[in-house]
Amino acid sequence: QKRVEKGQVGYFNESLRQRLIRERLLSDRLSTAIEENALRLVFQPILESQTGKVTGLEALLRWHLDGEEVAPVEFIPLAEQYGLIKTIGLWVIEQACLQSISLSKGSQPPSVSVNVSVIQLQDHNFASQVQSLLTRLQFDPSLLLIEITESVFATDQKTLLEQIQALQKLNIKISIDDFGTGYSSLSSMQNLGADIIKIDKSFINKIDSTGLSIIKAVMEIAHSMGLRVVAEGVETAEQEKILKDIGAHLLQGYHLCRPLEAEQLTEYLDSSTEQKI
Ligand code: C2E
Ligand code: MG
Ligand code: MG
Ligand code: MG
Repeated sequence: QKRVEKGQVGYFNESLRQRLIRERLLSDRLSTAIEENALRLVFQPILESQTGKVTGLEALLRWHLDGEEVAPVEFIPLAEQYGLIKTIGLWVIEQACLQSISLSKGSQPPSVSVNVSVIQLQDHNFASQVQSLLTRLQFDPSLLLIEITESVFATDQKTLLEQIQALQKLNIKISIDDFGTGYSSLSSMQNLGADIIKIDKSFINKIDSTGLSIIKAVMEIAHSMGLRVVAEGVETAEQEKILKDIGAHLLQGYHLCRPLEAEQLTEYLDSSTEQKI
């Protein structure tokens, strides 16, 4: 009996130790990742379901560490925990805008969505830093969408709501990511004046069972409130068909297009424009 307990304690200590070692290593390397050119963005198109037209691109951060890719779900929490997310977050917005500009070819640049962490929104300077950035790049704020997860509603933070309102004043759009997994209600979306909600992929995944009725209900209320809805994580032709049938306007997912490297974007956007004609 005693030996088993001892062994378990040893095991947990060891795995905890390994985890802390990895955390320390990763956060250390992450702190220099921008200078080392180890970060880059990929872009996943968001498409209009009826026309197949690309309405925007979501920027997703990628990190290459010694030839290995570390997933955002692992390094974003570390960036938050180790005080790196503000710097990285602004870099992401800058790079996303630059990419959009470089795709514009003289005409209107595509709109870009960036994911923003709650910690960034708790910073009094966030909205004004974004404003300076957009001014410097001469980027039209109405082409920038900021995706926030519902965790922002877990607590009613004054600064956070101030920052969101300041962003909206600049004409930046707000999108609620992973809708349905967190704390928000549709009425809190309305109070916030969000423009878009993104129904979480877990519901799209269950579309042939329990998901459909939830998706329908959310869409109906969202549309009556003037919010646009994106269905996230569309992985099959069947899901796409069902979503089209129930009037979902905007779709995103591997079935439509995987996140693309910057170099692939021009070609993809050109070919998707040709398809329309
Ligand atoms: P998210 O914002 O909800 O982004 C969607 C995630 O789902 C992305 O994972 C995307 O690659 C993936 N995805 C897209 N289509 C499908 C599909 O059909 N099926 C499945 N199973 N997955 C799909 P990724 O790039 O690994 O990012 C994960 C999360 O990390 C993001 O979720 C976002 O919350 C966070 N993240 C990514 N980039 C950034 C960033 O620059 N800043 C911050 N703060 N968070 C970021
Ligand atoms: Mg997102
Ligand atoms: Mg999401
Ligand atoms: Mg998310």
